[in-house]
Amino acid sequence: MTDAVQKITEKLKAHQIEDAGLEARLILAFVLGVDENELFFACPPLNEDQEKRAEELVQKRLQHYPLCKLLGQKGFYKYDFIVSKDVLSPRPDTEILVEAAIKYAKEKGAKKILDLGTGSGCIILSVLGDVASLNGVALDSSEKAIKIAAQNAQKLGLENRVKFAKGSWFDVDIVSRLGQDFDLIVTNPPYIPTQDIADLAEEVKAHDPMQALDGGEDGMVHYKQIAKVGYQMLKKGGKIFIEGGIGQEKQIADIFVKEGFLLVDILKDYGGINRCIILKK
Ligand code: GLN
Repeated sequence: MTDAVQKITEKLKAHQIEDAGLEARLILAFVLGVDENELFFACPPLNEDQEKRAEELVQKRLQHYPLCKLLGQKGFYKYDFIVSKDVLSPRPDTEILVEAAIKYAKEKGAKKILDLGTGSGCIILSVLGDVASLNGVALDSSEKAIKIAAQNAQKLGLENRVKFAKGSWFDVDIVSRLGQDFDLIVTNPPYIPTQDIADLAEEVKAHDPMQALDGGEDGMVHYKQIAKVGYQMLKKGGKIFIEGGIGQEKQIADIFVKEGFLLVDILKDYGGINRCIILKK
């Protein structure tokens, strides 16, 4: 580890920040305009401005700003996504869903994908990036989130393959607006039970949009509605890939099975949590 990296790593570690070494490299890479992997081996000297900028970032990070929101970007699956306070930070936990959706879409030669609650667009854009046969529709109730997702689509050169729609799965006309011919649906809806929000890490509860977290009294409010409209929008034989919170997989599966879906699989994320529920129409 180089001296500059070491210095910042220690400051972050002293404040119990996980992955302090990686975050130190991300901060320095950002101010230096280099790839973080280069800093494993050598760190070019920082000029006064860069030194000052790095210190400002470290200080904000110590106040529990999530690093990706300070840097305005987050690596997820294969790409760097633009993020802001208006979108949920992409999490590695969600990559398992992306991989499963890609595998399915490739095997089936799927043509149309729907993302319910797209946020930064990290899920649908990652899938589109890997599956050339696909076009997509991405729904979000936040205009500001859609702006970020559209920027990401542009950045990845996928803007001609995805349409963004502002609206909610609770809208009465949502099925007729979006259509009923999707081969697959992906979704990471808000699922934190309202009373648990106060216990979330500061990085999450103060910096992810509440609208992207709050799953109502039991965390299931959005799944119940998505099961209803999702069933109508999916083609017969199509699949839905759903992210769930810790310990929610059975409840989620039951909700979708009640609407007529068949449970296909439940996948663990890299932390060993049952994270992605897959069902078939
Ligand atoms: N995965 C997020 C968290 O636990 C929650 C995202 C969501 O509600 N979909 O912090």
